[in-house]
Amino acid sequence: MLTHYIQANTNGRLHPASEPSITPLNRGFLYGDAIYEVWRTYGGVIFAWDEHWDRLRASAGALHLPLEQTKEEVLVELRRTVAEYRVHVPDAGELYIRLQITRGAGAIGLDVALADKTNFIILVQPCPELSLEKLNQGLRLSVAKSLRRNPAESLDPAWKTGNYLNNLLCLREAKDRGADDVVILNRDGDVTEASVSNIGFVRGGRLMTPPLSAGILGGITRKLILGGIAKAAGFAADEVRIRPAEFPAMEECFLMSTTKDLVPVCEIDGIRFAVGQNTATNRLKAAFANAARAYAEAHPELAA
Ligand code: PLP
Repeated sequence: MLTHYIQANTNGRLHPASEPSITPLNRGFLYGDAIYEVWRTYGGVIFAWDEHWDRLRASAGALHLPLEQTKEEVLVELRRTVAEYRVHVPDAGELYIRLQITRGAGAIGLDVALADKTNFIILVQPCPELSLEKLNQGLRLSVAKSLRRNPAESLDPAWKTGNYLNNLLCLREAKDRGADDVVILNRDGDVTEASVSNIGFVRGGRLMTPPLSAGILGGITRKLILGGIAKAAGFAADEVRIRPAEFPAMEECFLMSTTKDLVPVCEIDGIRFAVGQNTATNRLKAAFANAARAYAEAHPELAA
């Protein structure tokens, strides 16, 4: 059910996202044979343009999926889509910009040789915002019991593909228990990430997050925090193996993603974490906002 206008751009054709777009023979629909990226704007500027582009290229390479547009051509299409969105929603604030690329359509069958040519679909909508209440209270998480994160030797979680069934089913299970999001473990029982966010913890003034080798998406938000934002906020940051048995020893927990930046977590299955004004999470969130503002000021050429 759609509650707001979403602008689509299918292979260059601008249309409301509520209207039909690709054919039912599209391999993205049939097999999840697709990749995607999500950018958001800060101050109307497309944030972390290069980082997301590089990850898109890595996902395309992993799926042996040729990218037919150059980075510059994609930017032109993103801008066209945003401009059309603004015609429909003139007073929109910060935007969510999604680029989905599928291998195309063709006769039914898994063989990639059956695909005609890659399709792109861009979707633009307001950047989703958590309610102030949730932001202040923090999210409630629950550990997935029936499923584990798919291992890197299968559909590697590092690839941002059109197949999110593993995460979707883990989220469903956690929501069934009344949680807002899920903590997914790998086959060794280590913490990986949440459904569409990386996870971090604070203990003794140190920030900790699972390493890429746990089998996670290399989130851009996580990367930026590890790459300097944590230090700017006065914290040491480490990638360490984390097991659920360690949750009671953690002081704080938070999620990281492009649309959320950092969001505090108040509990995982009844184990409580500090939330609020004087927390490390709040300081990190403020440092992230400063970095995002500085990026927007430094990149007027990425205004959308
Ligand atoms: N982990 C998963 C599984 C995701 O889908 C996402 C974002 O969609 C993230 C982590 C966070 O990544 P980013 O910070 O690049 O948005």
